[in-house]
Amino acid sequence: MIGEARLRELIDAVATTVTTHADELTSLDSAIGDGDHGLNMKRGFDAVAAEARSIAAKPLPEALKAIGTTLVMTVGGASGPLYGTLFLTLGKELAAAPQDYAAALRKAVDAVAARGKSQLGQKTMLDVLYPVSDAVAATKNAEEIVALAFAEAEATRDRKAIRGRASFLGERSIGHVDPGARSSALIVEAVAKVLN
Ligand code: ADP
Ligand code: MG
Repeated sequence: MIGEARLRELIDAVATTVTTHADELTSLDSAIGDGDHGLNMKRGFDAVAAEARSIAAKPLPEALKAIGTTLVMTVGGASGPLYGTLFLTLGKELAAAPQDYAAALRKAVDAVAARGKSQLGQKTMLDVLYPVSDAVAATKNAEEIVALAFAEAEATRDRKAIRGRASFLGERSIGHVDPGARSSALIVEAVAKVLN
């Protein structure tokens, strides 16, 4: 189980990467959405980072639920409830089966899909989260998982958006990386680097 110090490192690492890439995420969202994804994510993870001390003092499942709740309250947009659902479900599943990270991740990604009424291949964060969840289940190493996450985010460029604001553009969404897929890859990278 991940302890308090490691949990703080994880929160700091994710908040830092989101802040560092906020402008990039916003500019991806300007191309096929409304240009707020970086700002939304930064607001959310700044709020999580501000509570890092009290969150990290909780057992991991409770900490994940607290992160999810904070994201739901602060990120906004479509991505807030979706990332919130991811962390809330991870926490709920790990509370029920503390050792089974792969199964918890898979259930959390399924919960995001249910919440978004979306599925793999629709040019969303799921295009990164599902392959990453499969790679975790297959016990791939951290380096492989990070490379996969970035490659899958990049692969959204050639897809037409079927869900989210980008879907309003239809064919014109093709040729741009999905901002949520990119933010998911960045979060995966930050987590993998700390856990490795
Ligand atoms: P909004 O689209 O409301 O402005 P954001 O810009 O913060 O919200 O987030 C946009 C990202 O959310 C998209 O790039 C996509 O990855 C993700 N997203 C949007 N709708 C869905 C959905 N129904 N299912 C899965 N992911 C989605
Ligand atoms: Mg947006």
